[in-house]
Amino acid sequence: MRLDKRWWLLLVLAGLLALFFALDLGRFLSLAAVKSSQADLQAWRAAQPLLAAVLFFGGYVAVTALSVPGAVVMTLAAGALFGLGWGTLIVSFASTLGATLAFLAARWLLGGWVQSRFGDRLATLNAGIAKDGGYYLFTLRLVPAVPFFVINLAMGVTTLRTWTFYWVSQLGMLPGTLVYVNAGTQLARIESLSGIVSPGVLGSLVLLGVFPLLTRKLTEMFQSRKVYARWKPPKTFDRNLVVIGGGSAGLVTAYIAAAIKAKVTLVEKHKLGGDCLNTGCVPSKALIRSAKFLSHVQRAQEFGMRGATADFDFGEVMERVQRVIKTIEPHDSVERYTGLGVDVAQGTARIVSPWQVEITHHDGRVEVLTTRAIVIAAGARPFVPPIPGIDTVEVLTSDTVWQLRQRPERLVVLGGGPIGSELAQTFARLGSRVTQVEMAPRILLREDPEVSELVTARFRAEGISVLVEHKAERVEVIAGEKTLVATHQGREVRIPFDALLVAVGRVANLKGYGLEELGVSTGRTVEVNGYLQTNFPNIYAAGDVAGPYQFTHTAAHQAWYAAVNALFDPFKKFRADYRVIPWATFVEPEVARVGLNELEAKERGIPHEVTVYGLDDLDRAIADSEAHGFVKVLTVPGKDRILGVTIAGEHAGDLLAEYVLAMKHGIGLNKILGTIHTYPTLAEANKFVAGNWKRAHAPQALLAWVERFHAWRRG
Ligand SMILES: Cc1cc2nc3c(=O)[nH]c(=O)nc-3n(C[C@H](O)[C@H](O)[C@H](O)COP(=O)(O)OP(=O)(O)OC[C@H]3O[C@@H](n4cnc5c(N)ncnc54)[C@H](O)[C@@H]3O)c2cc1C
Repeated sequence: MRLDKRWWLLLVLAGLLALFFALDLGRFLSLAAVKSSQADLQAWRAAQPLLAAVLFFGGYVAVTALSVPGAVVMTLAAGALFGLGWGTLIVSFASTLGATLAFLAARWLLGGWVQSRFGDRLATLNAGIAKDGGYYLFTLRLVPAVPFFVINLAMGVTTLRTWTFYWVSQLGMLPGTLVYVNAGTQLARIESLSGIVSPGVLGSLVLLGVFPLLTRKLTEMFQSRKVYARWKPPKTFDRNLVVIGGGSAGLVTAYIAAAIKAKVTLVEKHKLGGDCLNTGCVPSKALIRSAKFLSHVQRAQEFGMRGATADFDFGEVMERVQRVIKTIEPHDSVERYTGLGVDVAQGTARIVSPWQVEITHHDGRVEVLTTRAIVIAAGARPFVPPIPGIDTVEVLTSDTVWQLRQRPERLVVLGGGPIGSELAQTFARLGSRVTQVEMAPRILLREDPEVSELVTARFRAEGISVLVEHKAERVEVIAGEKTLVATHQGREVRIPFDALLVAVGRVANLKGYGLEELGVSTGRTVEVNGYLQTNFPNIYAAGDVAGPYQFTHTAAHQAWYAAVNALFDPFKKFRADYRVIPWATFVEPEVARVGLNELEAKERGIPHEVTVYGLDDLDRAIADSEAHGFVKVLTVPGKDRILGVTIAGEHAGDLLAEYVLAMKHGIGLNKILGTIHTYPTLAEANKFVAGNWKRAHAPQALLAWVERFHAWRRG
């Protein structure tokens, strides 16, 4: 059996510690022992100064690296032997080196395990360490409340950088080192370790320790207040909350605010329901459904028919999409929200001060509302890249494609992300000749490579020309013929088209409603902290305008935090919880994911095991002629705790729900395996993948004994 390097280190450390205690080496590191041999030690040091310094240094590093007791006594001895200057120098470097070795050993032995076991639960701590880790360490080093060896080991399992640990430790331990080395110069007078640091010195160390952290917190507080300097807050407020934008994020924010009895105004300049209802999720899923029906007609023979045809008109299919929107519209209507207690304003909002929102109503009326808090939920829009010549054609985007009533014969879809892929397959099924152009080496780049392969293979089988590693360079119109010119491996590829659909990403709406004038910090999105607060603590943002996700369910999730925090800060606020975020791409085969995939786990160095179940083996999938795809589960090595799941196959988005629940509530694969799943359903795949995991972790040694037991019973 080959031992992992970690086990070797553990064995060496355990051996050294056993030796230390077995030989009772601690007896040399007591105050009495050092004092009694002080004269001999000083004589030796005078005879061999360099050797004494080197050996002392090495001994100090060993004591601190092994976290054995004795460092305090050695620090005093350093004063007695080498004096204040040299003693401090030797101890300062030896203690920091020893501490860093202990830190590295803890990281190597336990860091990966702790981060993979509790990584998602440690997310807040990791974020805090990334931001303020150095300050915390400095405080801990100076305030003698936590033993030094505990700090070394505990910091080792965090994500604090080694270099930060090293220099902050050296700096933070220096005052204490000075005090103890100085005391050591008068070793003969010291009677016990407890009296060395006077209350006055202790108080100074505590003050020194908390000072930087306190300064930083005060500066942050001051800066967050400073942004308000230009304005005078109103004495009273018309509203508790004004919400800008009536899409998924804005609607849910307003709903929650009204439910908890706040006075809230929701301003929407276009259509309530925003992107999702009008130009996003709803129309795309409605069109996907019609296209799926056509794909089944195409596959009639697979279902035992001799053949089938569908007589359809593209314009009528697009009208159905509008009917679906109309049917869902009442869920997001002015009437419904007014009934729920929300004051709905149909107009354009502009923030004019941190507590004032100007509303230009559709009827021309302009009013300014004062409000305690504002939630920005202004969404995002399709990004159209500045490719030369693109403005010479009328490009389609996810905003405008729903207005089409004539099917484009040759459609180029620019973009291999979820929106581009969903629309490429849909239009191909509706009869367009579709070319999908993607710059990256594969479509659906965020997913694992085999997902992209599966989807690409299906796309190609359905007649879509999927061109990856093709960079769009320019659009040309020559004698009325429109062409996208792309480059692939250094040569030009010309793709003629009738319509060009651009789906290369969505950008947050940041301009035109007062953010710049006010000074709200923005980058690619409105910048928010963990509580969804902007740099103006009473102004929040949620949904696509805030990111980092661009889904309806994450917009709604953030909306809860934005509403509650906006209404109850400073009394209580909640940090948005992004630990378990699911999503799905509604291509066929459908792709759904929650948590990590293999790609991310490898990139982030998170130890994991992979268990796969192929849906080609599943009874229901076979009966439905949908026997393709897989369920792939990532777990903590040796444990059934789920780190992430990717499903590719029929109804993947629905199948994922079981894992979302499991991850959210810490349910492992053993419990999924122990749960009855209805036969014959696609959901059984979730149980079968758990079964695969269980088989791979069967206790072989125990089973060998059980086999012997059965043999014995047979006689
Ligand atoms: C084609 C497509 C398919 C999609 N499919 C899915 C899917 O299947 N699942 C999923 O989860 N997500 C999907 N999405 C994403 C989803 O639609 C968005 O993540 C979601 O709608 C974001 O909601 P939001 O409230 O942040 O923004 P929006 O819905 O964009 O709402 C913002 C609103 O703010 C209004 N507004 C902006 N400025 C002002 C102002 N100054 N005054 C007043 N009003 C203003 C706008 O008019 C808009 O109505 C899809 C998106 C697209 C484009």
